[in-house]
Amino acid sequence: MINLEFEKIFGASPAQISNAPGRVNLIGEHIDYNGGTVLPMALPIGLEVALAPRRDELIRIASDKFDGIEERRLGEVKTGGWADYAVGAIEFAVRAEYLQRGVDLYISSMIPDGAGLSSSAALIVAILKAARQQSERDVTDADIAVLARQVENEYIGMPCGIMDQMAVAVSQPGEAIALDTTTLDYDLVSLPDRYHFVVLHSGQHRKLSDGRYRKRTLECEEAKKAAKRDDLCLLSECEIAKLDVAQNIRKRAFHCITEHARVLAAIEALRKDDMNAFGALMNESHFSMRDYFEISTPEINVLVADAVKYGAIGARLTGGGFGGCVVCAVDAELADAWKATLLAHHPNAKFIC
Ligand code: ADP
Ligand code: MG
Repeated sequence: MINLEFEKIFGASPAQISNAPGRVNLIGEHIDYNGGTVLPMALPIGLEVALAPRRDELIRIASDKFDGIEERRLGEVKTGGWADYAVGAIEFAVRAEYLQRGVDLYISSMIPDGAGLSSSAALIVAILKAARQQSERDVTDADIAVLARQVENEYIGMPCGIMDQMAVAVSQPGEAIALDTTTLDYDLVSLPDRYHFVVLHSGQHRKLSDGRYRKRTLECEEAKKAAKRDDLCLLSECEIAKLDVAQNIRKRAFHCITEHARVLAAIEALRKDDMNAFGALMNESHFSMRDYFEISTPEINVLVADAVKYGAIGARLTGGGFGGCVVCAVDAELADAWKATLLAHHPNAKFIC
């Protein structure tokens, strides 16, 4: 019970408890900052926070995943440590006037961090939702998502799009969210029970704030500058061929336009209940991340190839890339045997959900 944990650490009861799920992106990678449509799904595993406002400027944070109690003051600069994400959420909640002053905060999480399952967005959204309960303000879940993205972009310096924050702020496990990342319009799309979307950790840990994600966002910026428009995903193949840019930039842009088209086709396939088409699009998405966006790793390529070899109808790297998780669509009746075979060949991989 999170309130008991909170009491044990801080010696008083929390005022608010809130939560947010992790998310897995079924298809549509690195296009949420390029005007694309994406298709993430909330996970059955999530993260919980307990919070109590303080009468001073102190922020105290404890987490079941990290040691010690981190102490900071409102307005202090970030340190590069694990608590920065939570401190950033509190700083922005104070700026938005959801909170008045400092807080005590405890975090309890089932989401592996740095695995591509959006522990960062879940953490920030859960804190902002707890802060919202503390205020009288009329704030929607979409407002929370937008503010949560600002925490990552402006406080952490992670130039991510809006996908993760919207996925964990507005959707529920078992449904996918077809999200237009320009307008923030979305449809909740139900997923067929006869297939499982299995999430496996490759065993390769990565931290997105290490600069590799940023490099890809800057490459996309270069393509957008050359095209003189922001909606990179909506360019045609012909327009990309004509861009006055280096070959690697053209490849990034090519991934964006084909990935956006694959997402639209995948949404259509779900609506028609054509899961074989959906699986084929997942596979193509992986090849594009491997060959054009170049965010996969040799280990993940083998894991994805074996997932399909042993019976998944589709498999791909999910999340920002360079390690972390893969997502596979598997016939529910075959899922247990498939998992056992795949894990026997990949002892470093771990089944998440
Ligand atoms: P992810 O793909 O999981 O979102 P990121 O690199 O974007 O990976 O974010 C991971 C960071 O989020 C961690 O380094 C930490 O700062 C923060 N975080 C995630 N989970 C927790 C937690 N349970 N407790 C405290 N901080 C967390
Ligand atoms: Mg993240």
